[in-house]
Amino acid sequence: MAEFTMELNDEQKEVRDWLHGFAADVIRPAAAEWDEREETPWPVIQEAAKVGIYSLDFYAQQYFDQTGLGIPMAMEELFWGDAGIALSIVGTGLAAVGVLANGTEEQIGTWVPQMYGDANDVKLAAFCSSEPDAGSDVASMRTRAVYDEAKDEWVINGTKTWATNGGIANVHVVVAVVDPDLGSKGHASFIIPPNTPGLAQGQKFKKHGIRASHTAEVILDNVRVPGSCLLGGKAKLDERLARARERAKAAGGERVKNAAMATFEASRPAVGAMAVGTARAAYEVALDYAMTREQFGRPIIDNQGVAFQLAEMRTQIDAARLLVWRASWMAINGKPFTAAEGSMSKLFASETAKKVTAQAIQILGGNGYTREYPVERMHRDSAIYTIFEGTSEIQRLVIARTLSGMPIR
Ligand SMILES: Cc1cc2nc3c(=O)[nH]c(=O)nc-3n(C[C@H](O)[C@H](O)[C@H](O)COP(=O)(O)OP(=O)(O)OC[C@H]3O[C@@H](n4cnc5c(N)ncnc54)[C@H](O)[C@@H]3O)c2cc1C
Repeated sequence: MAEFTMELNDEQKEVRDWLHGFAADVIRPAAAEWDEREETPWPVIQEAAKVGIYSLDFYAQQYFDQTGLGIPMAMEELFWGDAGIALSIVGTGLAAVGVLANGTEEQIGTWVPQMYGDANDVKLAAFCSSEPDAGSDVASMRTRAVYDEAKDEWVINGTKTWATNGGIANVHVVVAVVDPDLGSKGHASFIIPPNTPGLAQGQKFKKHGIRASHTAEVILDNVRVPGSCLLGGKAKLDERLARARERAKAAGGERVKNAAMATFEASRPAVGAMAVGTARAAYEVALDYAMTREQFGRPIIDNQGVAFQLAEMRTQIDAARLLVWRASWMAINGKPFTAAEGSMSKLFASETAKKVTAQAIQILGGNGYTREYPVERMHRDSAIYTIFEGTSEIQRLVIARTLSGMPIR
């Protein structure tokens, strides 16, 4: 087990500085344009692919870094550049992790490279779980996958929504119900290969923030995929379903409820790290502004009212990062989250990002409220962190249930 450290090693520092350079030189200068265009920033993703940031290799290296700090460090730097563009760069990772976590070696080898493409022909992937009537309440998902034994094919029908890269992705990973009596235990994940008939993009959403990231509905109308597209394979699924049915029987046939999305516990610190990146970006702009903006013949930071706000902002950001690093270290070392530390880190970091970016607007005054300065965009962007990968309320629910062992509602 890697010892917990609060300092990056030399190799990590080198990667961090390289990412920071890309975020400062390529992402940040493009941020306002793509926010206004509300389109996927293909040229920036291509640039990231060219230098090796948009690639399976880079992502896997950070993911398997035994200190646990690879992913949070990378997320913080990229999202420091711009949240919308960074999500376009790392969004494929959500689907890739779904395959890495549940797929067979053959599935990983076949599909993950197709999610990224290469520097000359960049591809994207989408992870589709949420539905119009199943957001926080994942167990009420309705998209149905039925096995056609004669053809060894799965037939999938349903509507997914709010999917990052949905409809424009080369490969979609879709979560669907295979046994409706088992709640979330009756779900399975499927690869939908490129150009599969029946998969179409529905509405593309116009959003409050992270507008450079594509978010859309995905319609699945009699989508047929080969049996080999079931992640983990049929034998493993049958085994898992048999175990879940046994447990449901023991519990008196009660429908198995989703345990407040505890399965996402290990991936939540990564979202916390994105929030830290946005918060730090806004704080830096605000500090710089407060040092240079003069009113009443002196820099505005000369007033405790402004200086104390900055002190508070920096303290909260550092506290958020520590929670994120702790949870990431625990996740890579297989430490049990006995106090829902993953959820804690996401809850605190995302709420911090919303607060700090609002304070940054206040410190910049009228300029902060305009699109001439980036803090207005950062504040809009920050609102997503308390919503996706489980809202703040769901994080509190997971933490409270974990601490108390009670079925708190
Ligand atoms: C920009 C964006 C990108 C996204 N990307 C993806 C993606 O790539 N793939 C994907 O599958 N999904 C994605 N999502 C969906 C996201 O994960 C959901 O929006 C989120 O889980 C919340 O679900 P909901 O929107 O249905 O809200 P709801 O579940 O309807 O919640 C509405 C409100 O009620 C509160 N609430 C609900 N239940 C409880 C409870 N038990 N106790 C207390 N409060 C409660 C919530 O906290 C929230 O404040 C994305 C969403 C957005 C906006």
